[in-house]
Amino acid sequence: SDVTMAPATAGPSTTPAPATTTSSTNPAPVPNKDSRIHTHSHIKGLGLSPEGHALPTGQGFVGQAQAREALGLHLGLLRSGKYSGRPLLLVGPPGTGKTALSLALSQELGARVPFCPMVGSEVFSGEVKKTEVLSGGFRRAIGLRIKETKEVYEGEVTELTPAEAENPLSGYGKTISHVIVGLKTAKGTKQLRLDPTIYESLQKERVVVGDVIYIEANTGAVKRVGRSDAYATEYDLEAEEYVPLPKGDVHKRKEIVQDVTLHDLDMANARPQGGQDIMSVMGQLVRGGRTEITDKLRREINKVVDRYIEQGVAELVPGVLFIDEVHMLDMECFTFLNRALESPMSPYVVLASNRGNCVIRGTETEGLGQAGIVSPHGIPMDLLDRCMIVRTYPYKRDEVKHVLETRCRVEGLDVSPEALDKLAEEGVNSSLRYALQLLTPASIIAKMSGRNQIDVQDIGEMNSLFLDAKRSAGVLLEQEGKGAWATYGRR
Ligand code: ATP
Repeated sequence: SDVTMAPATAGPSTTPAPATTTSSTNPAPVPNKDSRIHTHSHIKGLGLSPEGHALPTGQGFVGQAQAREALGLHLGLLRSGKYSGRPLLLVGPPGTGKTALSLALSQELGARVPFCPMVGSEVFSGEVKKTEVLSGGFRRAIGLRIKETKEVYEGEVTELTPAEAENPLSGYGKTISHVIVGLKTAKGTKQLRLDPTIYESLQKERVVVGDVIYIEANTGAVKRVGRSDAYATEYDLEAEEYVPLPKGDVHKRKEIVQDVTLHDLDMANARPQGGQDIMSVMGQLVRGGRTEITDKLRREINKVVDRYIEQGVAELVPGVLFIDEVHMLDMECFTFLNRALESPMSPYVVLASNRGNCVIRGTETEGLGQAGIVSPHGIPMDLLDRCMIVRTYPYKRDEVKHVLETRCRVEGLDVSPEALDKLAEEGVNSSLRYALQLLTPASIIAKMSGRNQIDVQDIGEMNSLFLDAKRSAGVLLEQEGKGAWATYGRR
């Protein structure tokens, strides 16, 4: 099959969890989920005790003890491989931490586990089919860990013993300042002392002991031309001497671990063959040259993935797919969800809604007088039946205050006790999210007034500049009947 298992490296990608390539000996930085989801950067986990009890404050989480403990239990099921395609459904008023909980769940699963947050309304795009958007989300949330064992030089050779010198071998070693490469040539084995930059080229080419290489004299570029029983006659390098190299363990087995998502593989394989440099990719974009990710392509990729898993080369890493505002999905999407959850390649699905009873979208029949089927959270009963439902509750003043304090610490903001009280009041009257959103702009206002500390007057000013959702609705209600909005619309 010509399916490539290399992740997409260029071109636009909306992947929230970028592919990472790491090796066990030289780990590359893991993408930090916190930096991607800024509003939740204070959340580091579920904040549970080893026995699974919610700590009053833990890992940035405050309150919502029942929900955190329920998620902890669910986490136990996932870790023990007992996930049976039952999605979690988080229900509760806006700003009560549903998104934060799902993020914490993914953090508890590990930094390398993909987390794909979506909003139900995202599926309604003019260009892409609804089920296609959902499919993309599912594949972004499934990771694949590909393990390769490479023999890479890691040892060090300083001096050759007489016994070693007698042993005609091809291989290479490194001293602190240079690399010694053994080349088997028509004339015998030749030892070359090379510049460290060539050593890098050797690593890049993954040259291992026994390989015969060709080194370009002018550029120092290394090319592998065969194994040691072949003869490298092409080389063009002035070497000083012919010395056999030691056998020894100058090379080591090194595990290369590559984390990609199925979506990365889709993208890599959908891109038309040709240049992957920025210019070619831009050209493809302008010409619309990108090949569509089709179901057929996905099936092909799945087949290769299955084979890799069977051979033990790759391991499936189910991540978390979070769909917020799930009530925005319609019947077609729910049917898709039901089917996708059955698949052995399903991520852990977390749904969230802040609605009570509402019409399931797509069940209204226009013109026939049918208002549509009403169901809790706008979710069909069959899917609701499968869900493990967890409830979140509105916050008390103390809890709001505590979250605000945590957030100030993370953002490095200084707030006076009176301002904190005022913000906590806003949080209770409006929402925690609104209070949190006031913090940064209030700090800018304070700075403009020559202060480092956010004061109660800054909060007052924020309130005169911005409306929270409740006040905005209140303004509309007040204006109703006065025709103010209609007049504006007709103008
Ligand atoms: P919606 O229904 O509107 O989507 P939500 O329930 O998903 O809201 P979040 O977005 O998770 O709410 O929370 C709003 C903000 O409050 C976020 O910045 C979140 O990190 C923070 N937050 C919510 N609950 C907690 C908590 N218990 N501890 C600490 N921070 C919290």
